Amino acid sequence: MSTYGIDLGTTYSCIARLDSNGNPEVIRNNEDNSNTLASVVFFENENNVIVGQVAKDNIETDGDRVVQFVKRWIGKTDARTYTFDDKTYTPTEISALILTRLKNIVESQGDTVDDVVITVPAYFGLEERSATKQAGELAGLNVLSLINEPTAAALSYCARQFQEDRTILVYDLGGGTFDVTIIKMSMTEEGGIQKIKVLATGGEDVLGGKDWDDKLYDFILRACCDENGLSPEDLDAETRQDIRSKVEEAKRKLSQKEKTKVRIDVNGARTEIVITRNDFERMTADLVGKTMNHVEGTLQKVPDIDIDTVLLVGGSTYMPMIKNAVEARFPGKVQQHDPDQAVAKGAAIYASMLGLTVENDTADTETSESESNLSDDKRAELAAKFTVEDQTPRSFGPGVVDTKGSKNKYILENFIKIGEKMPAIATKTYYPIEDNQERVRLRAFENRSMDDALIPCVNEEGEPQATDPAHMVKLLGELIVNLPPNTPKTTPIQVTFKVDASGVHVEAINTSTGDKFETFLRTASDIDIDKSAVHQLRISSD
Ligand code: ADP
Ligand code: MG
Repeated sequence: MSTYGIDLGTTYSCIARLDSNGNPEVIRNNEDNSNTLASVVFFENENNVIVGQVAKDNIETDGDRVVQFVKRWIGKTDARTYTFDDKTYTPTEISALILTRLKNIVESQGDTVDDVVITVPAYFGLEERSATKQAGELAGLNVLSLINEPTAAALSYCARQFQEDRTILVYDLGGGTFDVTIIKMSMTEEGGIQKIKVLATGGEDVLGGKDWDDKLYDFILRACCDENGLSPEDLDAETRQDIRSKVEEAKRKLSQKEKTKVRIDVNGARTEIVITRNDFERMTADLVGKTMNHVEGTLQKVPDIDIDTVLLVGGSTYMPMIKNAVEARFPGKVQQHDPDQAVAKGAAIYASMLGLTVENDTADTETSESESNLSDDKRAELAAKFTVEDQTPRSFGPGVVDTKGSKNKYILENFIKIGEKMPAIATKTYYPIEDNQERVRLRAFENRSMDDALIPCVNEEGEPQATDPAHMVKLLGELIVNLPPNTPKTTPIQVTFKVDASGVHVEAINTSTGDKFETFLRTASDIDIDKSAVHQLRISSD
């Protein structure tokens, strides 16, 4: 039985396992001659779907048959779908194609992929998580668990060196996203067990290596036009694809060399463009500044924090300008090892720890030593060293009416905040709005705010209302609580939210009758808001 860790990335994905010495190793993608797999899918025709570099090479010429950045849409309520040859794919199904390709890479090298851990961004909500898990299942994988990407990165770094308590800032600049995460790793007094806890997250959904590529693309395109006395409209699709396909390679070269040459066929005429690292750094300085602003913003979320170590994660941190900027801000604290593989390696470590637990639980099922890619001793050692504390990825709470002011206000009360240990449970008592209310419509919301109360995404009547986009408020669903005839408005209704890795459990108890109502919410789909019957709960009893 083989256990793998998978980094299902926005632009590149990666699969890893532990070798027989217990060290994480990435399975090489020989076909693309790379340690990673481009998360790009090309629907060439009905019978041929290509994943990886070849798909990426077709973006400019066959853009309408190529899907990329699908991770931005996975599990989103308003997710788009993709139709090719009369077949429609959801982002989850596209992700499953990428996972299947990773599985095939391993199989072509003679191993099977049974149990896996897949990584997700720390800020992914429940829907994105459950969709990611579903993508794994569609690809025929047994998903043991999901793990937050920065936590996985920290695991892979700390597999090298674990000693004392540490506060770590993970700076993850990938191809399409930038994530900052502050993590606390701690040792307990008894057995040296290490806990990993996420303290704060920040970053931007659309900031990554692609933005550096775009700047370089514009630069080369303009240079090609200047050289040949053309205007951009004169360049055909092939020339654009030629530039596009050379941009990323040129960028990678500039991570090692001071200057590089790019040769482009401009409408048949060969043109040579020289780019220096200085040029490149000048044209992208604002992007580096943006990432550093997010770092400061995230630090401000945890006042008085002292960062001990900064981990550079994500392929884009290979660019010297990134290391320089982060090093200038955190002198002597920056660490970087295989930044484009660290997440997959950490997931492989975690998968092996979980694999051990699974095997112990099913001791009577035969597991042959030779099939396992890691010795039991080594796994036991790893398992004893880490416990990964699962935390709530979002804040959760009910929508209720605040009757305290001069005018009633419908608000979202945050019961459970981001970063609480799961399962997280919170209870509060509310009251019906009026006497003889037939029922209560208890709405459950998810959001990214740490505020005690905020504006929900629908008002009392169920109509959408404007919220701060940064809070990403989402309606998860609702629970109908039926009340018996003649219920006075002073009847206490006890509302409980329980959040664990699989979803949100909402419960309401009419404390005067003992009647209990409950529901389990996992996704925000299919919510039917009935505007004709508005019945809410209010905060106070007077
Ligand atoms: P993801 O965003 O999918 O998690 P990665 O962390 O692998 O993916 O980052 C991919 C990004 O890293 C791409 O934009 C890629 O061009 C960039 N990248 C990879 N290697 C280098 C390098 N040597 N120099 C500069 N950028 C690189
Ligand atoms: Mg990544």
